Amino acid sequence: MRLEDKVALITGAGSGIGRESALLFASEGASVMAVDLDEDANADTVAEVRARGGTAAASHADVSHADDARSMIEDAEATFGRLDVLFNNAGISHADDADAVGTEEVVWDLTMDVNVKGVWLGCKFGIPALRRSGGGSIINTASFVALMGAATPQLAYTASKGAVLSMTRELAVIHAREGIRVNALCPGPLNTELLMKYLDTPDKKQRRLVHIPMGRFGEAAEMARAALYLASDESSYVTGTAFTVDGGITAAYVTPDAIAPEASP
Ligand code: NAD
Repeated sequence: MRLEDKVALITGAGSGIGRESALLFASEGASVMAVDLDEDANADTVAEVRARGGTAAASHADVSHADDARSMIEDAEATFGRLDVLFNNAGISHADDADAVGTEEVVWDLTMDVNVKGVWLGCKFGIPALRRSGGGSIINTASFVALMGAATPQLAYTASKGAVLSMTRELAVIHAREGIRVNALCPGPLNTELLMKYLDTPDKKQRRLVHIPMGRFGEAAEMARAALYLASDESSYVTGTAFTVDGGITAAYVTPDAIAPEASP
């Protein structure tokens, strides 16, 4: 088992990447502290882990609040005795996030609070716990938009994910000699609630799909498998990376769909 005897805290465990990671990490031997703002969804994840024979407990937290972030780490150590993996995954994409002119201050601040401050607070209280365990792995969920821009703007979200990526690199450098590895997971567009609530017609979906070389959205379970690698000792020499799992989107200049048949070699 790839996470045997390890304790992993996962934020945003009630849905999408976080839920799939909770299920996968537990199936690989980890004790999982599932954290979410949505208590019911989080409880469902814990119940599902247990139903499959795994070990998990729930902690209710808003990752953007310092007291909550402190208590989720305390919950992990109090329940399972240690912390080895900190997966700062919770994030939001606000419906009113737009371009510079159209984005309201309240939308900007909320996005930054959850997506950036939430990652920092996880690290602020989680790093001392990882030190107490003799080291560990931090995974921060960024996005492919940390690496590329789009003409369909969500400026606050994009800026927040850029901040997650740059923060990850600096954390990796600062803590490298303490045995704490820090990597950013950069998913492409996924078939999860966060994106699909906006891409709610076949036409909207298709307009996004033309940019993805593989021609399909990613699945949360595919992100969980990448996170598992970063969480486990298999990635023991990997730190400070932007780990892209994106169906080729960041590699693309022109996708196969955009090439007329007569222009193909
Ligand atoms: P999701 O919406 O399915 O799940 C996010 C979870 O985070 C939810 O359960 C929600 O309740 C929780 N959450 C939101 N705010 C919180 C807070 N303040 N405190 C605690 N929990 C909170 O989303 P997902 O697609 O699984 O996304 C997970 C991460 O992946 C996010 O950081 C997101 O930005 C990133 N991401 C998603 C996509 C995509 O296309 N879905 C692409 C790139 C990156």
